[in-house]
Amino acid sequence: MKTNEEQELITKDKEHLWHAMHRHNPDASPMVADYGEGSWFTDKSGNKYLDGVSGLWCLNLGHGQQEIVDAATEQLSKLAYFPLTFGHEPAIELASKISELLGGNYRTFFSNGGSDANETAFKIARQYHRQTGNPEKYKFISRYRAYHGTTMGAMSATAQAQRRTKYDPLVPGFLHIPPPYAYRSTFADAERDDELAADFLEQTIIWEGEETVAGFIMEPFISGGGVIKPQSASYLKRIREICDKYNVLLIMDEVVSGFGRTGEMFGFMHSENVKPDMVSMAKGLTSGYMPLGATAIKNEIYEPFKEVTGNSHFRHVSTYGGHPTACAVALKNIEILEREGITNRVKELGTSKLSKLEALSSHPNVGEVRGVGFLYGLEMVSNKETKAPLQDEAMNEILRECKNKGLIIGKNGDTVPELGNVLIIAPPLTSTEEDLDFLLNTLEQVLETIK
Ligand code: PLP
Repeated sequence: MKTNEEQELITKDKEHLWHAMHRHNPDASPMVADYGEGSWFTDKSGNKYLDGVSGLWCLNLGHGQQEIVDAATEQLSKLAYFPLTFGHEPAIELASKISELLGGNYRTFFSNGGSDANETAFKIARQYHRQTGNPEKYKFISRYRAYHGTTMGAMSATAQAQRRTKYDPLVPGFLHIPPPYAYRSTFADAERDDELAADFLEQTIIWEGEETVAGFIMEPFISGGGVIKPQSASYLKRIREICDKYNVLLIMDEVVSGFGRTGEMFGFMHSENVKPDMVSMAKGLTSGYMPLGATAIKNEIYEPFKEVTGNSHFRHVSTYGGHPTACAVALKNIEILEREGITNRVKELGTSKLSKLEALSSHPNVGEVRGVGFLYGLEMVSNKETKAPLQDEAMNEILRECKNKGLIIGKNGDTVPELGNVLIIAPPLTSTEEDLDFLLNTLEQVLETIK
């Protein structure tokens, strides 16, 4: 039921608001969110929903963190705005905190979000190679199924055809290789899939000419592309070795996996002793309370940008990148994540609760359940033998039924059925045990109805 107030808003919405990622459907009745509490939000008509995807995977600490609100208010009244062509306390403290979280020796360039953070990484990588005697190194390699953002460079790294085709030609110099994906092994060898996927990177660098490859960008766990992960931590170790061997910068996109989502502060930390050259972050950096992007860069990469005169500094700026309020919010967010031991909580509840999703793999339409921490994907099929993907209509029916029962979950891809068959579950990291039970029970009930 919708109240009159919500109906009026929906009328205006239909006339004036262009929704992200949605087909235009004049008959659809969009939801108008009103307020949030913990992992739940309530619409204008008073209906309550558990947010099983943390907004857009960003609401790591859930709604209602008063300390974050206070930090934002205090910063806003103290210094409304100041650019990072100079400096301000929250940005300095945050850059230093990020370096500490990454194990030291990083400096950070701030921007507005994840796409922006990746664009920054690409520009730094190209300029770095130009200024260190490798002017031909301009290509970037990324992996099919990955999403790295919406702007032209980040979209060029994104390797999901359905998002790209209408915008060609994109930025030249971006290539794609298969991710490790044992369930549908590109190499028809599930057991050696990780190893062969890593070998493919090396082969691509050789075939392209190592002198032309600037960087490799990857998420430690492909998130929006369908929660696709390597089978073992050694995949990333091997990737690091290959990047070192060919002087290819390893850019880790931690936009979703950062800040506790997988049970470590950053997803790459599941592989010991691997340090990326650059780490892009956004979303969980502020738990979605303010827009902020950050690219952390190893100090060695910064060296050739140091100058007193001349033009080898980084000529890149965004007015709102590193806004003082956003940085103050991020600092408070990280303080809470650490104080509350969120990574341990995610590990424990990920194991004791969310891993129960694995039991759903006995369902006739669940091909594979993949997950880590508070990041899960259920790859849905219409036939377990052939692995034929469950079609769009059935996928949407599941989402609709969950919503009718008060649970919001997501799915990967959008309009291409073969690429939109993974249900995505990524609740706030502060979700209570009862919240997680509700999520598990509701999803199980809904899946029962489609058998
Ligand atoms: N990288 C990854 C892995 C993402 O999932 C996203 C957004 O979903 C982005 C980058 C882009 O972030 P933003 O939407 O903040 O530009």
